[in-house]
Amino acid sequence: MEDTETELRCALCERTPEKEDENWLDVDVRVGEDDYYLWFCSQDHAAEWFSRPLPPVEGAESAAVDSGDGVLFGIVFTTMLLAVLGLIGIGICTVVGWLF
Ligand SMILES: [Zn+2]
Repeated sequence: MEDTETELRCALCERTPEKEDENWLDVDVRVGEDDYYLWFCSQDHAAEWFSRPLPPVEGAESAAVDSGDGVLFGIVFTTMLLAVLGLIGIGICTVVGWLF
């Protein structure tokens, strides 16, 4: 793994931050299966970059997000949905049982 801190540079003008308090934007861009993690020194440069045709993105590292993330999210989401539905079901049963 490389130290990404030292590679922080604007995807448009390629300059690096001079001060730590500069308001840099970090943007996650997904193009097809590829994830790019981009930095911009200003919102203007981010806007200009996005107004251009998308990749090839030079100098951007692929974040190497494995496709398992989507599946995991699906499982977590489904579990939460079932849990919420279960709670609603229990709530309705309780209310019905309480009323009658
Ligand atoms: Zn820039």
